[in-house]
Amino acid sequence: MAKIIDGKKISQEIKAELKEKVAVLKAAGKTGALAVIQVGEDPASSVYVRNKKNACAYIGIESLAYELPESTTEAELLKLIEELNQKEEVKGILVQLPLPGHICEDKVIQAISPKKDVDGFHPQSVGAMTIGEKGFLSCTPAGIIQLLKRSDVDMEGKHCVVIGRSNIVGKPMALLMLRENATVTIAHSRTKNLPELCKQADILIVAIGKPRFIGAEYVKEGAVVIDVGIHRNENNKLCGDVKFDEVESIASAITPVPGGVGPMTIAMLMSNCVQSIEED
Ligand code: NAD
Repeated sequence: MAKIIDGKKISQEIKAELKEKVAVLKAAGKTGALAVIQVGEDPASSVYVRNKKNACAYIGIESLAYELPESTTEAELLKLIEELNQKEEVKGILVQLPLPGHICEDKVIQAISPKKDVDGFHPQSVGAMTIGEKGFLSCTPAGIIQLLKRSDVDMEGKHCVVIGRSNIVGKPMALLMLRENATVTIAHSRTKNLPELCKQADILIVAIGKPRFIGAEYVKEGAVVIDVGIHRNENNKLCGDVKFDEVESIASAITPVPGGVGPMTIAMLMSNCVQSIEED
């Protein structure tokens, strides 16, 4: 039976470390706020936004909520971002995605000052990560690296297959694994012989966005399996991209859904906020 990688516990450890760091920074006169912008009332986004505000409160940094109506124009949103870019006390700006269809997400991401880009989505942050320079790391992939490190999973020289090539998960994930000296393969919707390829992986990171897609036939005996997917099944229960019940008996370690990768994303967002306060 696989070891369960407990993202809830590890994310709590990270947040507790950050809380201590924030107290030290405060004592040295260094403070700052995270601005959280939500456009519209998508229920899933509202849950994420609430969790982010709660995490800020826990570690001891201020969060400023901007809840804008669905009808907000792109120009209005860009104006708000520009104002927040200029505000001294705002050290991080987060725009909850997805945005309504009439607003261009790329334009919005690029409007955020790279100095406050705590989601790590700005092209400058992505470029810095690619060439190994300092900058904010994309939260979900950075959280997965922490999960692996804090579970004593050795990445050096291991074959890591990442399924998915999105800008927010697959691509940055592959780059961060490369930084850890893994040998990385990126698989995607056009990849041929996916089960055979995945079966070669020592570490299999699954970010496909399709519920319970990966079963036993994709997993090598003893592999470490990280499931990034989040879905609600027909009974309204959360599940991932991996058939946990099938894969658990083959893998040496696996993340559950919920309680695996999900909580790490917010912990790493908090880590980026603290980094921003520290470096300012
Ligand atoms: P996405 O839809 O942007 O990308 C999915 C990727 O999977 C694509 O690159 C595509 O090429 C690949 N893919 C699709 N079908 C495939 C197939 N049949 N075979 C091989 N590859 C295939 O999704 P995303 O934004 O990268 O997110 C992936 C999943 O992770 C989603 O379920 C999302 O909800 C979840 N997610 C979780 C967190 C978290 O904090 N836990 C954060 C971001 C995303």
